[in-house]
Amino acid sequence: MIIKFTERQKKILEIVKENEPITGQEIADLLGFTRATLRSDLAILTMTGVLDARPKVGYFYTGKSSINLLTEKVKNIKIKDIMSIPIVVTENVSVYDAIVTMFLDDVGTIFVTSENFLAGVVSRKDFLKIAIGGANINKMPVGMIMTRMPNIKVVTPDENILLAVDKIVQNEIDSLPVVEKEVVGNQEKYRVVGRISKSNITKLFLELCTE
Ligand code: ADP
Repeated sequence: MIIKFTERQKKILEIVKENEPITGQEIADLLGFTRATLRSDLAILTMTGVLDARPKVGYFYTGKSSINLLTEKVKNIKIKDIMSIPIVVTENVSVYDAIVTMFLDDVGTIFVTSENFLAGVVSRKDFLKIAIGGANINKMPVGMIMTRMPNIKVVTPDENILLAVDKIVQNEIDSLPVVEKEVVGNQEKYRVVGRISKSNITKLFLELCTE
């Protein structure tokens, strides 16, 4: 099976061939994109084995367009194909009730909404922090301890799963809200439609490798 790269990925390959070793930032500068824009392209190119990434040195062209069935499969899997149901509470819910929800629904991260749109994320460590601080968790709303927008990392249903893996790894987090973007007034808001976590990725990995 032949791996089909996008035009942008082909351009990146040309640049690396001519300038190796070259850093992600230098590639981004040459193409006039931000480093963030190129992150998923570089992830795909290194995973297929065409590029080799050496920490603190940069990217090398290996020329190995390895016929990598696994990568080819992964490239065709979208977030919506493997996402789970999101567990959501509103921001005025008490920390106590949010902890109960976390246990009952057996998740490590809860998404918090305000007026039906994503307002924040609260994880196990956020709860532990507030509990050892001795706060009254029955009175305190979860909105007070959550990580809030606009600092929430999200993905959308039609994006490739590699993008989710990349965001989870880069940001050292366990899960991402899957959202649909809506413009309200002149503001972009996120409606939560799913959840993608390290567990989804681990399960997929097992399925792909045992198929
Ligand atoms: P845990 O608390 O179980 O280690 P995480 O590693 O996911 O879980 O969370 C670490 C921190 O990152 C927490 O403060 C949490 O609120 C925050 N966080 C979790 N998910 C996201 C996300 N998608 N975007 C931004 N911040 C997040």
